[in-house]
Amino acid sequence: MSQNAAVNSNTFPSGRPVVFRNATVLTIDPELGMVENGDVLVVDDRIAAVGHQLAAPDGAVEIDASDGILMPGMVDTHRHMWQTALRGFGADWTLTNYFQFYYLNWGKIFRPEDIYAGNLLSAIEAIDSGVTTTVDWSHGLQTVDYADAAVDALEAVPGRFVLAYGNLLGAPWQWTKAPEFADFIRRRIDGRGDRLRMQIAFDVTGDPAFPEKAAFEVAREFNLPVTTHAGVWGVTKDISIKMMYDHGFMTPSTIYVHAATLSDDSYQRIAATGGHASVSAESEMNAGQGYPPTWQLRRHRIPVSLSMDTSVWWSADLFSAMRATLNADRGREHLEAHKRDETVMLSHLRAEQVVNWATMGGAEALGMDSLIGSITPGKKADLVLIKNEQSPAMFPLLHPYGHVVFQAGRGDVHTVMVDGNVVKYDHQLIGADLNKAKQAVAKTVEYARDKMGEQAWNQSMNPEKAVVELIENPYLYTKQEKQGNSGAAPAASQE
Ligand SMILES: [Zn+2]
Repeated sequence: MSQNAAVNSNTFPSGRPVVFRNATVLTIDPELGMVENGDVLVVDDRIAAVGHQLAAPDGAVEIDASDGILMPGMVDTHRHMWQTALRGFGADWTLTNYFQFYYLNWGKIFRPEDIYAGNLLSAIEAIDSGVTTTVDWSHGLQTVDYADAAVDALEAVPGRFVLAYGNLLGAPWQWTKAPEFADFIRRRIDGRGDRLRMQIAFDVTGDPAFPEKAAFEVAREFNLPVTTHAGVWGVTKDISIKMMYDHGFMTPSTIYVHAATLSDDSYQRIAATGGHASVSAESEMNAGQGYPPTWQLRRHRIPVSLSMDTSVWWSADLFSAMRATLNADRGREHLEAHKRDETVMLSHLRAEQVVNWATMGGAEALGMDSLIGSITPGKKADLVLIKNEQSPAMFPLLHPYGHVVFQAGRGDVHTVMVDGNVVKYDHQLIGADLNKAKQAVAKTVEYARDKMGEQAWNQSMNPEKAVVELIENPYLYTKQEKQGNSGAAPAASQE
């Protein structure tokens, strides 16, 4: 197809097969592995074939994928999509700043239309960057009206979503029992197939009375998975895991978000019950939930999925998540070795494994691995083509898994397919109304700023800075040199 033609929904009429030609195909299917100069044929909503020079049915649309990497759509298992409305606001926050902002002060001011705005922008951003399945860890749902707004936004975007229903201002043992909650599931989730699914999202505080038991029972009654922030430093601890275990609520469908500061005993309970972790490395390193735990999880054989957590701080593309995860894991391996006065001679964690976590790992965590997560004939066609002829970083293409993790970025996402539909082609979105999201988010920003007032707005965005204890430098002689100089700069640079 010509590269500069206007792209719209007519470019890829529904019902016409699509064939990707000449890609480096990372199938993430253990049987198929990597296929060089490979073709992938999509018929209806399914992957029909993977191979070389495939015969395509009459009328198939061809996508030239040469010099590109074709991989399964990425899966994010934990994203607070509503918070994208305040993108970047908390760049300098700690977790304490975050709790003060949303839990103690301002979470309550958000209206259903603000949830809609954040979700709409976040959903479009997800498919634009090749994240074809996103768990909306939606803990701003103060009433069912908010949940309706969240789903309205998800349904307006041609991605695959899982609404993890939560309410940070309420008690899960209460809101899960409300009749309107059950009604919401019937109205908005049941019968929606695999484009919109649901989980229940809440945290287990460690209260010895275990009030969360009632919420787990609701989840069991509706056959919905539970996703929970676990092993968050100073917030959710081993006791929460033990109570879940003792009451039989740790199941293969349970997702443990962060799982960063748990004991071996807790990791063993997670592993033995088949649960999955959702690791948000950028989040854990910045906010302080604990060190990104993959270096521990893989020793315990706990399956890993990746997530980005929230765009109020971090980047929503999983390229960043993969890179942060691999950096954190290898960094920890080196530091642990250095403490023992040893040198790491071989890396254990491979780029390939991290690409697997970003795709199949997420699909498995969501119990959707028979549908998505790999380029396997018969599975749903959720695909990402990474290709950018304008980029000096896209050649040579020698180590494709490493290329995905360390070289490519969201700007290199050329084509995205969800459920057999092309939702982005030649770097242009198809069928997603970014302008609408922009206008909705602008209204939310204006409203929140007005509601908070300028002082609270500015103070919230720019929390007090921690004091650094400066180290005395014996090589600096005079008092003047020592003042305002932490030691590195030569005296001549002082004013
Ligand atoms: Zn979170």
